[in-house]
Amino acid sequence: PSRADITYFGAGPAALPTDVLETAAQALLDYQGTGLGIAEHSHRSELAAKIINEAKADLATYLDFSPEQYEVLFMQGGGTGEFAASMYNLVGAWVSRQHAAVQKEVQSADEAQVLAALRQRVESGLKVDYIVTGSWSLKAYQEAQRLLGPEYVNLVCDARTVNDGKFGKIPDESTWKLSKDAAYVYFCDNETVDGVEFPSFPKILEPKEDGTGPIVVADMSSNILSRRIPVSNYSLLFFGAQKNLGSTGIAVAILKKTFLPPTVSQPSPALLRKLALPIPPIVLQYEIIAKNNSLYNTLSIFDVYIAGQVLKKLLATYPNGVDGQQAVAEKKAELIYAALEAHPGAYKIVPDKSARSKMNICFRVTKGGNVDEAEKAFLKESTDLNLTGLKGHRSVGGIRASNYNSIPLEGAEKLARFIDEFAKA
Ligand code: PLP
Repeated sequence: PSRADITYFGAGPAALPTDVLETAAQALLDYQGTGLGIAEHSHRSELAAKIINEAKADLATYLDFSPEQYEVLFMQGGGTGEFAASMYNLVGAWVSRQHAAVQKEVQSADEAQVLAALRQRVESGLKVDYIVTGSWSLKAYQEAQRLLGPEYVNLVCDARTVNDGKFGKIPDESTWKLSKDAAYVYFCDNETVDGVEFPSFPKILEPKEDGTGPIVVADMSSNILSRRIPVSNYSLLFFGAQKNLGSTGIAVAILKKTFLPPTVSQPSPALLRKLALPIPPIVLQYEIIAKNNSLYNTLSIFDVYIAGQVLKKLLATYPNGVDGQQAVAEKKAELIYAALEAHPGAYKIVPDKSARSKMNICFRVTKGGNVDEAEKAFLKESTDLNLTGLKGHRSVGGIRASNYNSIPLEGAEKLARFIDEFAKA
């Protein structure tokens, strides 16, 4: 089949708009008549800086946040690298704040005294909070345990406990065990493997009227750019590019500037060593990446270019930003879920209705009673119709239709029609 025939529902890397790829293919050979391709130009060149700065500005416009208040960082190491980076940087910020507080409290220049008081605070007060609602937040939680030490990592809730040992439901906020003054509270807004998405920002994490409140971190790898988000409620958002933003190879962090100098500086390696806390690799330090406008080391400008082109296309299609795309995403998801719900004898939607993802639609094919056979047939017949990439994640099986921004409305319609026809056949 040709590109135009296929509707690709893979979970990531996802399909990219064909016109973006055509532009990028040309740029790869010769960027704007320079005789050199975009992957060959120096990341220190003016044209690279322009690509980075435009992508940053367009992201802020599309998601409606202030570039004065938030820094956009292009990172390497994927979403997984951000599991570590978020922990290191926000624990570092916590240590710095405590250090300043202790210096005031002790009112002594005696370093040993300050250090003893700080150690005491770390031992009794350092906590990072994880809300575990699926495979990816579980991985982030485990990474924090591995790097920081389990004694500092608090499990706010494990969604499996409210859904027969499986992910698929978000525990009621009233049961969440939040720490007092955690260095941060972490959640994954859309769980790609399990098809679980927060319907809206958790009430319990909202900032208070006086502006104070928890320091919130979210992984938005698989639903960024698909819905409006209250950016100002977050201290940090991150996402890998390879689903809704662009090609594999970069991750983006949107960080509140109050976590950067001059407001907060990361503690020195010497201090962290004395506190027996981990020292972050330099490529994961937001402060360093911010200071260098994402060019501390060699960055794939090609990947930033693709992301930039996707953003320009989104802004051209939806001049008012993300709301237009959100309406389309909701419509597509509704079509697919409605087709599944119309045949309760043939399909079982995996997550609870209250937490269904609009981006990753996970279901089992129960038609005929033999799920294995039915799913094989479903995958074969859908592939024959050029509806591809529908196999569920290897850890959970089943079917997963990833309804990312690059899936056109007609693509969702085609899938909904197939779901209906397969059930009836
Ligand atoms: N977080 C979410 C929600 C994901 O879906 C993924 C990958 O699919 C990751 C994190 C990990 O990203 P990466 O493979 O870029 O490390």
